[in-house]
This record gives sequence, structure tokens and C-alpha cells, in this order.
Amino acid sequence: MAQMATDQQHRTDERSAYAIAIRQLEAAAHYLNLDRSLLEILKRPRRELTVNFPVKMDDGSIRVFTGYRVHHNPARGPAKGGIRYHPEVTLDEVRALAMWMTWKCAVVNIPYSGAKGGVVCDPKRLSIHELENLTRRYITEISMLIGPESDVPAPDVGTNPQVMAWIMDTYSMHKGYTVPAVVTGKPIPIGGSEGRLEATGRGVMVVADQALQQIGRRLDGARVVIQGFGNVGSSTAKLMHQAGAKVIAVSDVRGGIYNPNGLDIPSLLHCAGRDGCLQAYRDADHITNEELLELPCDVLVPAALHGVITSANADRIKARVIVEAANGPVTPDADEILDDKGVLVVPDILANAGGVLVSYFEWVQDLQSFFWEEEEVNQKLEKAMRRSYQHVAQTAEQNKVNLRMGAYIIGVKRVAEATIIRGIYP
Ligand code: GLU
Repeated sequence: MAQMATDQQHRTDERSAYAIAIRQLEAAAHYLNLDRSLLEILKRPRRELTVNFPVKMDDGSIRVFTGYRVHHNPARGPAKGGIRYHPEVTLDEVRALAMWMTWKCAVVNIPYSGAKGGVVCDPKRLSIHELENLTRRYITEISMLIGPESDVPAPDVGTNPQVMAWIMDTYSMHKGYTVPAVVTGKPIPIGGSEGRLEATGRGVMVVADQALQQIGRRLDGARVVIQGFGNVGSSTAKLMHQAGAKVIAVSDVRGGIYNPNGLDIPSLLHCAGRDGCLQAYRDADHITNEELLELPCDVLVPAALHGVITSANADRIKARVIVEAANGPVTPDADEILDDKGVLVVPDILANAGGVLVSYFEWVQDLQSFFWEEEEVNQKLEKAMRRSYQHVAQTAEQNKVNLRMGAYIIGVKRVAEATIIRGIYP
């Protein structure tokens, strides 16, 4: 019984996102020989806001929702990061996600610091009006933090361009004039960027290509398994398929589909986002999400939630390369097992940075009121991702560490440098 409790406790700790984020930061601090007090600064979020707010529901009742917005470290620029709508959002998770945004922006060298927001809710069980009411009220509640120079939200799990449009409109209504640069991931007619919707998937595809090259393989013909078929998972499937890879399995919250000869991705893209889309697909075996992660493949792309590859299943992973499209899908304990097995893991703070990179391009375009063509956006994205991958791979090699630690060394060093150069006020 005592052993069971310990195992349970171990699993819970292993999956605490903030505990994981701290552990990763401490490991990087060790390689960088970081000053103790600097580490203390970087460990803690600069500010955290919790809001409990009422929302009018369609049946006339009023429900109180809880939301958060966390700023991790302001050293390199305005706070940047998505807003998550999910029933299991916690402050612990939002803290971790904010910290990961700090390193992610630093790894791809864009002038932002990390933030994240979330509301505890199940967006699938809210009507469109309830979702709009919830968004407008949440944004009003956190309005003391957000703004184009201070904190720029974006989409994350459970939010989409329409939610970003309501955020832009709500903020603009309060200001009395239109402020497109307050949020990114907006629809194109109101200042969104070409290429933003597919940006995370495109970045994932580019780094998958580089990781395969690193192990002497090619993306063309590679067998790809994707967990998650939301915006990131479906864009990744589309772009990988177009690049000649064979997508053999995909999944959503209800489960996955697997065909070793490849799935008909164009037909699946028609129903992506609709409930039951994958379940209605005939030409494949229907499998669980756990089974999907353990399929033999060249590239495994976890594109759903954190903590899905742990010490409990890492040993059974058969992929050659894992590209973390989600934030935090592989725990540090699992990392060690995967390293020993020779699985190359491209870490989230590099692998999914395509999203925030194009968010940065969107913000720059909004501030200048001058918009770029999709080709230009995609080229700039690909160049930045390839350059960042090479930098991370070189740093990893020089320090004899894995790609995650290579990325952390770059990210944490840049933020530490900025903190030292700016100095401690007063
Ligand atoms: N939510 C995305 C992420 O985790 C995008 C953030 C952004 O574009 O600001 O990277």
C-alpha cells in the first residue's frame, strides 16, 4: 500500500509541469554555471494574476469561471504567449507554460519574454455565445496586463482565431480605437498574418526534416505518427504529407487511427476539428492514444497535451525521432530513457516555436500596418527554424548534451545575459 502511494506520488510529481520546468532550468543552470541569485530570479514567475469572473449562460443562469495570466520574466521584451481553454488548466501548468515561452522566444531569438493564460472550462461544452461572453469578460479581467507593448496573447489549446478576434475587439472597445497588435493569431481580415494558422505545423515539419538529416534519413518517405488532430496536429499532417512523408497514424481525444500503408490525409483534413472525424474513417485500425505513441515509426509528433511520454511508457517508444509539437509532452525521466535508447528528441521550445515566430511577424506587421505575402512569411519562418535548429544541435554537440539541454543552454543564457545587462532596479 505504502509502495503504491509512493508510485502514485512519483507519477504525479513527474507530471507536474512546473516541477518539470524548474528541473529543466536547474539542469541548464548547472551547465551554464549560473549564479545562484540569478537562478532564483529565473525560477519564479514575475507576476501571476488569478481571476474569478461571472459569465451569463444561454439558459439565463450565471456561472463563475476561473482564469489565469502569468508573466515569467520580462528581461527581453513584452510578454508573449497563448491562452488555453481546457477543463484541467491549473496555475501550476500556466506557470510552466509561461516559463517555457520565455526560453522558446530566446531560442529563436525574438524580442519577447514568456507569458501564458488559461481559463478552466470545456470550450466544447459552451455555445458560441457563451464562449464569446467568457472571452470578453476574461480579457476585461486581465486587461491591466495586456497591451501591444506589455503582453500580447495568442491561441493555444482550445482557442482559435475567432477567440483572438473577440480579444482584439474587446481590448479595442475599451481603448476607443482599434488595436490589432494586442493579440496575434487573428483572422486575416482584421490584421492577422498570412501563414500564422499553419506556422506551428510548418516549423515542426522543418525541424523534423533536419532531425532526420542528422541521423542520415530523409523526410520523403518517412513514416510519421501524430498524436492530436487540432490546429497543430492537422497542419503538421498536411505539411508532412505534402513533403512526401507517409502519415500512418493520427489521433484526437477519443482515440486514433492507424494504417501502416499511410492514411488519406487530404480526406481527413476535410473533417478536421469536427467531433467523430477520425472515428468515422474506415480504412484503418482504431487504436487508443497510448497504443498510438508506441507504434513503430520514424517520426513521432506528440501534438496534444503535456506529460504523455513518461517513465511508464518511454521504454516502449519505437520512434527514431520525437518532435514535440505540444508543450511538455516528454517528462525528464522519460528523456533519460529515450536518450539511452538513442531516440532523438527535438524539444518543444525549439520544435513548436514556429507558432510564436509567426506571431512575432504578425505583431511587427500590425505595428507597421504593412502586410507581407504568405511566401515571405513562410520563407522567414523556415530560415529562422533551420538556423535555430543548427545552433541548438551545435550547442548540444559542444556540451555533449541532448537537444533539449542544447536549447536550454541557449535560451537560459540569453535571458540571463539580458537580466545582467539591464541590472537590478533600483
Ligand atoms: N500557444 C503557442 C505556443 O505555445 C503560441 C504562442 C504565441 O504565438 O504567442 O507557443
